[in-house]
Amino acid sequence: MKQQSTFKLDPQSDRYRICPYCKNPHMVVHRNADFCNRKCANDFHNRNKKIAKELSALLGPLEPSAVTEESTISIVPVLTPSQVNIQIFDSFEIEPGDELEVHFDELEIKGFDFDGKYASGRGNLFNMHKKYNGHYTQYGRYKTFRTDFSKLLIYKEN
Ligand SMILES: [Zn+2]
Repeated sequence: MKQQSTFKLDPQSDRYRICPYCKNPHMVVHRNADFCNRKCANDFHNRNKKIAKELSALLGPLEPSAVTEESTISIVPVLTPSQVNIQIFDSFEIEPGDELEVHFDELEIKGFDFDGKYASGRGNLFNMHKKYNGHYTQYGRYKTFRTDFSKLLIYKEN
């Protein structure tokens, strides 16, 4: 596995992590990160989703009396990436008709699912500079524009 970070591997550092998915020791740029790359993070979350799905299939339809605290955890509905992102946008409490510019780091900390759209800089929001150009990605009532290398403008529709 190619070392992604620019930091020297140092188990004493607060940037040192063991990837929860592939167990690869690595250094992180953002201290809130744990995985060695986005693929591992995605694979890890997908595996968890799969396990949750298999568990609820195994358990079958539960009688209300049979729902224990443990079994309710495994049947929590899994949000789609868009639903997660909409929840994050909601958390900014933008007024309808208003907009807010947010740094990608802040979105990443909140668990935003970039879904390949922004991460590489070559998704469908690449080259957003020219007057926003009609290119945007819509999440529910939110239109999102990449306005800078690492900034997202979030516009909430009326
Ligand atoms: Zn990994």
